[in-house]
Amino acid sequence: MDTQTPPPHVLVFPVPLQGHINAVIKLAELLAVAGFKITFLNSDHNHERLVKFTDIAAHFGRYPGFELRTITDGLPQEHPRSGDWFLGMFEDATEMKVKQSLRDMLVNITPPVDCIVGDGFLGFVLDVAKELGIPIVYYRTSSPCSFWAYYSIPDIIQAGELPIKGSEDMDRLITTVPGMETYLRCRDLPSCCRVTDVEDPIIRLVAKQTLKSPQADALVLNTAEELDGPILSQIRTKCPNVYAIGPISAQLNTRLKAKHGESYHPFLNSLWEVDKKCISWLDQQPNRSVIYVSFGSITSMSREQLVELWSGLLNSKMKFLFVVRPNSVIGKDVEAEDVVRELHEKTKDQGYIVDWAPQEEVLNHPAVGGFLTHSGWNSTLESIVAGVPMICWPYFADQQVNSRVVTEVWKIGLDMKDVCDRKVVEKMVKDVMVDRKEEFSNSAAEMAKVTNQCVNVGGSSYTNLDRLIEDIRVMSM
Ligand code: UDP
Repeated sequence: MDTQTPPPHVLVFPVPLQGHINAVIKLAELLAVAGFKITFLNSDHNHERLVKFTDIAAHFGRYPGFELRTITDGLPQEHPRSGDWFLGMFEDATEMKVKQSLRDMLVNITPPVDCIVGDGFLGFVLDVAKELGIPIVYYRTSSPCSFWAYYSIPDIIQAGELPIKGSEDMDRLITTVPGMETYLRCRDLPSCCRVTDVEDPIIRLVAKQTLKSPQADALVLNTAEELDGPILSQIRTKCPNVYAIGPISAQLNTRLKAKHGESYHPFLNSLWEVDKKCISWLDQQPNRSVIYVSFGSITSMSREQLVELWSGLLNSKMKFLFVVRPNSVIGKDVEAEDVVRELHEKTKDQGYIVDWAPQEEVLNHPAVGGFLTHSGWNSTLESIVAGVPMICWPYFADQQVNSRVVTEVWKIGLDMKDVCDRKVVEKMVKDVMVDRKEEFSNSAAEMAKVTNQCVNVGGSSYTNLDRLIEDIRVMSM
């Protein structure tokens, strides 16, 4: 490379949700490590929260030219932004507002942006990039299996396999998602497919965003060839330029450890205050004795569901670390707080309840032997990398299909989809932690080994990232 040529200037833009930011900011950091000038664009609201709980400026200050910028998410300041609030971003007027701000920024920014890495769910970013003639790389942060199911929605509808005809129809196999014909049931389709009318705005929105992907210059996926090879082959029939560079956390860890050695500290990107005391609690527990319970940043549940989960955990007699995120229990704030306080009191020594955990550190702690998860894609990959078997209780979006792949294809856990019953929770926890412990631990350990090799020098994800870096350089010329 000509040392006189300035590095490419890449603008990186995630959907303003914790899971998306986690995955996208890691790609931004990887590109910064490669010497690119990065402008990371966060929503005003999330930037304020990040600054409150993390030292984001100091962490990224080490990369020359790394700039943090903010943009409106289009919603009024006082909007609560909880639950599936982000769907509001896709209403025409809101989307127009964000689109206009992005366009203005791109027209005025110096040095000019050479390439955009846009979250693959933000179709309007692709529109603006095309309008201004800037190359665009799509980064789809959800799982490849869900991407492929979303992509296939028009075909599923065309074949008359949707809508689902009531609860008795949920176990019917879907035959029109190539590569998934043997295991994808109606109940495993992404949650947007659980509508009675195929013209429903949510199913149209998801399909519309996904079907735009072939227009991008490249598609980056947070997976590895060895994990999702068959589905990646299917996706490549529509989007030939796919880069599987994941698991992104593991990729970043490998590259930064090589560069900085033990002095490397990962950036704890968090929109909530992290409770580090749970690590001291874990330190006191025997190896593989604790089940970690967390449902990510969006899932909400009724107090009845919370009590069923908690009762099942208590009855299993296993130790547990339970994340109950503030405002995640549906109902009046005071009532929700009461039920959480009661849980704290009654849990006593068997468990530890926190608002928000340092999840990757928890999953890699020797005391943790299982993960009761909502099957968010980041959580799934983090569990795979740590070799921790899962019990899957999916909430929405790609989680329904992720949990099916985890249990039916990879066989590294159990699927509790559509059930919330203390007896089932107890049984599954005992299965994973005691009765079938060896079976699940072995399969999870094997998967961790294969996956971690992908991000080592010469591994498929490592090589794919090098190729992506070079291709962005070429696109930026
Ligand atoms: N997470 C965390 N602490 C918690 C719970 C979650 O740091 O107590 C992180 C987790 O490591 C993951 C992200 O939040 O990277 C959640 O993303 P995921 O895709 O699993 O689910 P989402 O929140 O998007 O539903």
